[in-house]
Amino acid sequence: AVILGIESSCDETGAGLVRITDGGPELLGHELASSQDLHARFGGVVPEIASRAHLESMTATVRSAFDKAGLRHRDVDAVAVTSGPGLAGALLVGIAAAKAYAAAWDVPLFGVNHLAGHVAADTLEHGPLPSPTLALLVSGGHTQLLKVTSLGGEVPDAITEIGTTVDDAAGEAYDKVARLLGLGYPGGPVIDKLAAEGDPTAIRFPRGLTGPRDAPYDFSFSGLKTAVARHVEGLQRDGLPVPVADICASFQEAVADVLTAKTVRAATDLGIGTVVVAGGVAANSRIRGLSEERCAAAGLQLRVPRPGLCTDNGAMIAAVGAHVARSGRPVSPDALGGDPGLPVGTVSVA
Ligand code: ATP
Ligand code: MG
Ligand code: FE
Repeated sequence: AVILGIESSCDETGAGLVRITDGGPELLGHELASSQDLHARFGGVVPEIASRAHLESMTATVRSAFDKAGLRHRDVDAVAVTSGPGLAGALLVGIAAAKAYAAAWDVPLFGVNHLAGHVAADTLEHGPLPSPTLALLVSGGHTQLLKVTSLGGEVPDAITEIGTTVDDAAGEAYDKVARLLGLGYPGGPVIDKLAAEGDPTAIRFPRGLTGPRDAPYDFSFSGLKTAVARHVEGLQRDGLPVPVADICASFQEAVADVLTAKTVRAATDLGIGTVVVAGGVAANSRIRGLSEERCAAAGLQLRVPRPGLCTDNGAMIAAVGAHVARSGRPVSPDALGGDPGLPVGTVSVA
């Protein structure tokens, strides 16, 4: 069976086609359109602009995914769409498109969780996840440690939260630090690149919530962001040059250090042997590298999707659809709406 996945929760319009196989979902082709450049001068995503951009690029993006996969619409057996979490108006565009395709082609429709999509992206590359798997989900809006027992339909406790950020998400910290350094939006890729030319030990930025009495699996990044701001202000006040590459490298080291240390600790404490790192921030070179080092040292199996599947895309939504379609029931198109605050435990909406 072939599933079309549609993603429109933030600033990327994604369409992906996957085939359901016993070895996990197989990626047949996907296409992406981004409104990132339109948001750059605002320093963050402007919801109205994102919605309009989704509307303008949706049909061409879906058509291009079909072209890349070498398929036609009659090859599709089901449609899956991001139901949440995300921007309300942006979600609605994808949902309206998915409803229209499902009705026109007379195939079932699944409303699925964007965050489960980030985790499921890995199954496109590395096959089914062992149960349980510990997922470190690091994205623009979320930073969570998740115990994943299933990506399928109506399984109780399929995804449970072990830890979360108490303030900013890791991606948000990247975007805010990039903004205060005047590097534009999104911040992740540019900081990652500049960090390669800097010294990660130049400045010792704080590692949030790593004290002996702090919650062991929770994260905090707002103090780090403030520390970077104070550091830059101090240099400017003294009329000193701002070593942007060193700041980027030192900031990135602090983020990667905390994320990987807590992930390895949680996996070890919970006796979970496999770790998957997912979400847009998982594209980061240092987080990938340090995860590899520390998981290997702790005897943990590490899985990370290739960078192109870490950031938002339609293929990951089709991948959840493929898991859900095996065991779950499709949603009635009339009942399907967007849920900006859809909890991570709801893999697919009923
Ligand atoms: P969510 O998935 O929580 O709803 P989102 O969909 O907006 O939020 P993603 O698209 O998964 O988030 O990820 C976008 C985030 O990833 C941005 O904050 C961006 O700066 C960050 N990012 C992208 N590439 C990198 C990188 N190489 N290093 C660090 N961060 C990165
Ligand atoms: Mg994005
Ligand atoms: Fe995302």
